[in-house]
Amino acid sequence: MHIILLGPPGAGKGTQASFLQREYGLAKLSTGDILRAAVASGSALGVQLKSVMDSGALVQDDLIIDIIRERITHDDCAKGFILDGFPRTIAQAEALDVMLHHAGTTLHHVIELAVDDALLIDRISGRFSCASCGEGYHDHFKPTLVDGVCDVCGSHEFSRRADDKAETVARRLEAYHEQTSPLLPYYRALNMLRTVDGMASMDEVTRAIKTLLSA
Ligand code: ADP
Ligand code: ADP
Ligand code: ZN
Repeated sequence: MHIILLGPPGAGKGTQASFLQREYGLAKLSTGDILRAAVASGSALGVQLKSVMDSGALVQDDLIIDIIRERITHDDCAKGFILDGFPRTIAQAEALDVMLHHAGTTLHHVIELAVDDALLIDRISGRFSCASCGEGYHDHFKPTLVDGVCDVCGSHEFSRRADDKAETVARRLEAYHEQTSPLLPYYRALNMLRTVDGMASMDEVTRAIKTLLSA
């Protein structure tokens, strides 16, 4: 099963992708996480990526397309994958179509998490994650069960993304509306787009996605 989760920054793509990974044994391919790992490695490429990402702009298409083309050949993708944060431009969507076609397969579901901009600011400003296992949390909407301890792995270390500060969020939302939102009519025209109310609770969003996948 090959699933795309579409939606603006903070819509809940990563949260729902983690659920789908656990529930269906699919690989979770989060381009933001892959790029942040490259930044953390401290390579020359990582330094370049960091300045683009910190500005709130998108990384160039050819680079991210090469990353995905290679990543989907890994063993953990055998049962399928969830794309979280890719494609983000029409060029990326077209490249994905070609690579899946070459692999003799196709896309099965494109799910949009629809969330108003005003709510996204709250989502992003409260976001943090476990520095050890990557589990995602929110100051108000999903705090840890025990203060300061990761529910999943017990770590006491957490981190917040450099690009989650208010100035950068505005630029990221702009990038979404200008460069990524054209994917909605693109997939609608292919009769692939399904939209879920991303402003509902995490569990309700999960249920709506499960219903779509079982249809
Ligand atoms: P969010 O959680 O806000 O949707 P991500 O973690 O997916 O953000 O992405 C963080 C940053 O990484 C983006 O602002 C962009 O600079 C870069 N990025 C991630 N995925 C892509 C992509 N498919 N194409 C271009 N840039 C990307
Ligand atoms: P994205 O990957 O689309 O950028 P995330 O999954 O990281 O979004 O979610 C952004 C923040 O909002 C996180 O702190 C997450 O815990 C929280 N969140 C995700 N889905 C919901 C929801 N349905 N209701 C409330 N908070 C949510
Ligand atoms: Zn953890």
